[in-house]
Amino acid sequence: MYDIAIIGAGPAGASAALFTAKAGKKTLVLDSDQSVTKRAWIENHYGAPDISGPDLVAVGKKQAAKFGAEFVTAKVSKLNAKDGSVAIETEGGETYEATHVILATGMLTDMAEASGIATKPGTEPRIKTIVDVTPEGRTNQANVWAAGTVAGVSMHTIVTAGDGAKVAINVISELNGERYVDHDVLKS
Ligand SMILES: Cc1cc2nc3c(=O)[nH]c(=O)nc-3n(C[C@H](O)[C@H](O)[C@H](O)COP(=O)(O)OP(=O)(O)OC[C@H]3O[C@@H](n4cnc5c(N)ncnc54)[C@H](O)[C@@H]3O)c2cc1C
Repeated sequence: MYDIAIIGAGPAGASAALFTAKAGKKTLVLDSDQSVTKRAWIENHYGAPDISGPDLVAVGKKQAAKFGAEFVTAKVSKLNAKDGSVAIETEGGETYEATHVILATGMLTDMAEASGIATKPGTEPRIKTIVDVTPEGRTNQANVWAAGTVAGVSMHTIVTAGDGAKVAINVISELNGERYVDHDVLKS
């Protein structure tokens, strides 16, 4: 049983995992290795000049893994709501369970649709369908959230990563029962 399962390990998902794992939440990341970011060359990501998409994705996963996030390569086929948690089914037949799930599936909404999660037309270029979320990142299903491209934010790595962090902070805050902040202080 995980506190938080994140579907997708692109900038949105790995950034969310970095925050949830660093907050001490038992974090699982399931990813099907279909990130569009792996085709990118990036010169507009603040703090990371001239980085390839594959390097950005690899560094993000490494940062989250450092704090204990577990990564599994698998395609999630369906989410099933349970009482106070969410069951996650993969195409390979494995099942996992988490208190909260964050969808960070980029341009792919098939699994959300198969799970009965409400979608709507996208507004960003080349994005046909997105998951319908509240400003906090909640979907229409209890304990299921969405972040990044699939949640309709501008399709840029700095924005999707920031949205993953935002939604993760909201989930952590809900689990903790108070607003969460993670500030490390420069050591002298
Ligand atoms: C050619 C190209 C060039 C680009 N250049 C730039 C640029 O210069 N600057 C910039 O800021 N942005 C650029 N981008 C955009 C950038 O890549 C995206 O905006 C952003 O990184 C998307 O992040 P994401 O995490 O939302 O989605 P993604 O990076 O696509 O990650 C989604 C992840 O979800 C996984 N997934 C999906 N469905 C499932 C499922 N059912 N089960 C398990 N896993 C699943 C996928 O495998 C994938 O790893 C470029 C994009 C492309 C295609």
